[in-house]
Amino acid sequence: MQKAHGLTISEDVMNNLTRGPLARWLTGPRFSALPAPAALPAPRLSFEFFPPKTDKLEEQLWPCIRRLEPLGPRFVSVTYGAGGSTQERTHATVARLVAETSLTPAAHLTCVGATRDEVDEVARRYWAAGVRHIVALRGDPPAGVSGYVPHSGGYAQAEDLVRGLKRIGDFEISVGAYPETHPAALSADADLDFLKRKIDAGAIRAITQYFFEAETFLRFIDRCHAKGITVPIVPGILPVSNFQQVVKFSAMCGASVPAWMGQLFEGLEEDAETRRMVAAVVAAEQARLLQANGVDEFHFYTLNRPDLTYAIAHMLGARPRQV
Ligand SMILES: Cc1cc2nc3c(=O)[nH]c(=O)nc-3n(C[C@H](O)[C@H](O)[C@H](O)COP(=O)(O)OP(=O)(O)OC[C@H]3O[C@@H](n4cnc5c(N)ncnc54)[C@H](O)[C@@H]3O)c2cc1C
Repeated sequence: MQKAHGLTISEDVMNNLTRGPLARWLTGPRFSALPAPAALPAPRLSFEFFPPKTDKLEEQLWPCIRRLEPLGPRFVSVTYGAGGSTQERTHATVARLVAETSLTPAAHLTCVGATRDEVDEVARRYWAAGVRHIVALRGDPPAGVSGYVPHSGGYAQAEDLVRGLKRIGDFEISVGAYPETHPAALSADADLDFLKRKIDAGAIRAITQYFFEAETFLRFIDRCHAKGITVPIVPGILPVSNFQQVVKFSAMCGASVPAWMGQLFEGLEEDAETRRMVAAVVAAEQARLLQANGVDEFHFYTLNRPDLTYAIAHMLGARPRQV
């Protein structure tokens, strides 16, 4: 056991961490003021999109992808609708990313509403289309259905899905993680046990639910280390431009919205332009504080709009390259 910042860390975890960027957080000085971005390496980025439901949304998505493409994300991911409702649209969007862009796509896949055979078939189609990265999730029930019940012939939870995918092909697998604990978890500790099991089953990275206090993520990293979880935990950054919508969604997914955010957006309900400027500053401050503490990968929930993500990534040091 070793001591770092007052935490007791096992030798194994410490040895693994000397190879990872988060060693900086554990063993280096911790900053409360932000160093100049130029002094830090450019971050590794990933961007999340949802598959468009209408022609109008399709027209919004592709310019968004084209705008973000030059920032050279490691991968871009495409979500899978609640209840597996967007299977075909997710597949079509991912296939078009493969065919028409220089980007590496990651397809989200869930366990909801399908047998194992059906989920396996979707995964095989992805493999055949050249997709090698899956974000494996349990999924939530479709709108109007309360409580998650596994399909009788399906994968019960993300851990089982990770195992199933590994039997189909040597996919790169990312999974979800919850800095503020998944709402269905029996305890914060039990939630981390589930995360560890998904990693032991073959996932190589966790992407977090969004959160609004950098401290929330950094403490989560401390708890992951204490559990022996050493794969990269990538913070999910949600630039908030529609505050009321985020308040509603956060109540469902267990992310807390700090009072100071309500104060920042107060009175801006009819002023979309100022809201967007505030949103950029809030998310950039959060991400820069994480970056100053050694975090060098960020996953952006773009909501299929490029501008906030582009601006924040730029502030973190990302610069466009020729596509
Ligand atoms: C990065 C990211 C991307 C996402 N993308 C999508 C998407 O594209 N489509 C979509 O529908 N949803 C998506 N979600 C939401 C996700 O499906 C939900 O949060 C879902 O409720 C849990 O999924 P999971 O994969 O984390 O589940 P799991 O890891 O299986 O479970 C999550 C937690 O629930 C608890 N739990 C699960 N099973 C049990 C059990 N048997 N007993 C006790 N406790 C249990 C544990 O605390 C566990 O950590 C995403 C979430 C994240 C973080």
